[in-house]
Amino acid sequence: MSTADGLSQRIQRYHCFPESLEEGRLWFEQLVTENGGVIDAATLPSATGPDDEPLCTQVAWFGRSSAPRVFLSIAGTHGQEYFCGAAGQLGWITSGGPQSLEEDTAVCMVHAHNPYGAAWLSRGNENFVDLNRNYMDFSEPVRPNRLYPELFDLLFTREMNEHVLDDVMAGFYQFLEDNDDFEVLTAMGGGQDTHASGTIYCGRRQEWSTRNLKAIITSYLDQAEQVAVIDWHTGLGEPAVAAALERPAPGSRELQWAQRYWKVDDHSPELEGSEIPDYVGQVWAGTTADIRALGAAAIGTVVEIGTVGNQSVLAGLLIDRWLRFECDDPMSPKAVQLRTRMVERLNPSRPEWRKAALAAMSEVYQQTIAGLKDL
Ligand SMILES: [Zn+2]
Repeated sequence: MSTADGLSQRIQRYHCFPESLEEGRLWFEQLVTENGGVIDAATLPSATGPDDEPLCTQVAWFGRSSAPRVFLSIAGTHGQEYFCGAAGQLGWITSGGPQSLEEDTAVCMVHAHNPYGAAWLSRGNENFVDLNRNYMDFSEPVRPNRLYPELFDLLFTREMNEHVLDDVMAGFYQFLEDNDDFEVLTAMGGGQDTHASGTIYCGRRQEWSTRNLKAIITSYLDQAEQVAVIDWHTGLGEPAVAAALERPAPGSRELQWAQRYWKVDDHSPELEGSEIPDYVGQVWAGTTADIRALGAAAIGTVVEIGTVGNQSVLAGLLIDRWLRFECDDPMSPKAVQLRTRMVERLNPSRPEWRKAALAAMSEVYQQTIAGLKDL
C-alpha cells in the first residue's frame, strides 16, 4: 500500500472531517499533490492561530490549466462551517474525483476562505467581518438596514446562559410578529455596516480574504468559458441534506440549469422563509459577477448542509458573538462549554451525520461537474 492510499483511507475513516484547520491544511496539501493537483497558499498577514501558527488560505487546481469548464468550490467562508466544506473537498479528492475529470474540465478549490474563523471557531474573520457580506464594491454607501439597531439591542446581551438564550429567543419571536417579514429577514441576515460588534457585519472595505479570493479568480479563471461556483455552508435546512439556496430569475436559463443540476425548486420556505433578505456582499454573487466580467458564463450558489434546525443555529450566532465581545476568559469552563455547544450546531460530531453530509456533498460535486457543459 502506498503512502497516498494510507492517508486517503485514514481520512475516509473520519468521513473526511479534519479535527482542526491545521490538520485540514496538512491533509489537503498532501492529497492535492498526490492526486495530480497544483497547490498554492496565501498567508493571512494580520493574525495567527491558537498555537501562534500562521494561518493560510490554500487554493488547488485539478485538470488542465487551460480547461474551459471549471467548478470553483469554496470552503470555510464562515469559520465553524469550514470543517464540512473541507470534508466535501477532501472527499472528492479521496474518492477518485481528480482521475475522473474530462479533458476540458477543471476543479478549483479554495480551502479555508476564512482561515482565522476556522482556526478560532468563529463565523467572522479576524475583524469580526462576515465574509459572506463583504464581497462587494465599497465605493458606494452600503444600503441601510433599518431594523438592525433594534435587533442588535434585542439579541446581544452582556450575560449568556440558557435562560438568557430562552429570553432572547422569545423576544425575537415577538420582534418577528411586530415587524414586516422582509425587513426582519434583512435585519437578521442581509448584512449591516453600523455595528462592528454585531452579526452580519459587512465591514467598511474589502477584507484580506475577499481580496485574496478576487486575486484567485483573476489568475486562475481568465481562460474559463463555463464556470459554476459553490460557497459551502452548514446550518440551515434538514439534517445532512445539501440544498442550493440561490433561486435564479423565473423563466431564466440559469433557473432551468439549477433545477436540473442543483435540484432547486421555486421556493424553499423551510430555509429562508417566503421572502429573501436584501443581501449585500455575498461570496457566490460577487464571485459569479467577477467571473462573468472575465467573459465566462457563470452560475453560483450557497449550498447549505443542514445540521440541527434553524432556531438552534440562531442561538449559535448569539454564543459566537458573546465569546468574541463579552466573554472575559475564553478558556473558562463556561466559555469552553458554550463554544463546544455552538460548534456542535455547525459541525456536528456524530459519525452518521458526517457520513450522510459527505454523501450529499459528493452528489452535488458530481452533478455540478456534469452540468458544466450545459452552462
Ligand atoms: Zn454560513
